[in-house]
Amino acid sequence: MLTISNLHATVADKPILKGLSLEVKPGEIHAIMGPNGAGKSTLGYTLGGRPGYEVTGGSVDFLGQDLLALEPHERAAAGLFLGFQYPVEIPGVSFVQFLREALNAQRKTRGEAPLSGGEFLKLAREKAGLLKLDMDMLKRPVNVGFSGGEKKRAEMVQMGILDPKFAVLDETDSGLDIDALRIVGEGINSIMRRPDKAVLLITHYQRLLDYVKPDVVHVLAGGRIVKSGGPELALELEREGYEAVAQEAAA
Ligand code: ADP
Ligand code: MG
Ligand code: MG
Repeated sequence: MLTISNLHATVADKPILKGLSLEVKPGEIHAIMGPNGAGKSTLGYTLGGRPGYEVTGGSVDFLGQDLLALEPHERAAAGLFLGFQYPVEIPGVSFVQFLREALNAQRKTRGEAPLSGGEFLKLAREKAGLLKLDMDMLKRPVNVGFSGGEKKRAEMVQMGILDPKFAVLDETDSGLDIDALRIVGEGINSIMRRPDKAVLLITHYQRLLDYVKPDVVHVLAGGRIVKSGGPELALELEREGYEAVAQEAAA
């Protein structure tokens, strides 16, 4: 589904990704863990095509397409979803308005007819219910005054509505209390745990992985994947720390 080969990327002329390779197959959930500043968010932004993240080498194949040749909106329409570490606030635009525009823009890029207001609201209600988020929240301006947990749940509602094939979720667990963590974890499972979908879950901590069980766990350090393993690798990292595991891998 997604094959990243020897990816190099710079931010502000500073090399951050230094030969990152990774293959994710349909139906799989991969976790990426690693120390602060390792390049985890840079990987997400580079896949999304964020301006300022310059690819200087390597390739990314997404469902048989050259992902890096696509514009950001084309990547989204092709089925790529990015969940951000820090969701943005958009005063003056309601969440339902934003979500409907986003969905219909993607459908247009794919040559599909837009959803009517009624069809859209039905879909939004269903997904908000899944994330136990009150529909009234979605009538408010995007993320303005939302708590950390509400932002993340609203983002998962967005993911449910856009129904991507592949999601990169960057520290979706940050700022969540135990109940919100479980709700968000179950949301990820019900939206993305499908034979034809896959997820790259970026996280510092093992705790989200108690709810969203990864098939593969990778350690990202110094802009590369330095070690990969099963779910037990996350437990090892929690026990021994990134430094020890990264050093052992380098040796
Ligand atoms: P992580 O998500 O793993 O904590 P990031 O991908 O956010 O790491 O950052 C990787 C490195 O890139 C860090 O050293 C960070 O300071 C640097 N970096 C990120 N964004 C910028 C930027 N806009 N300008 C300069 N350096 C940046
Ligand atoms: Mg960080
Ligand atoms: Mg980060």
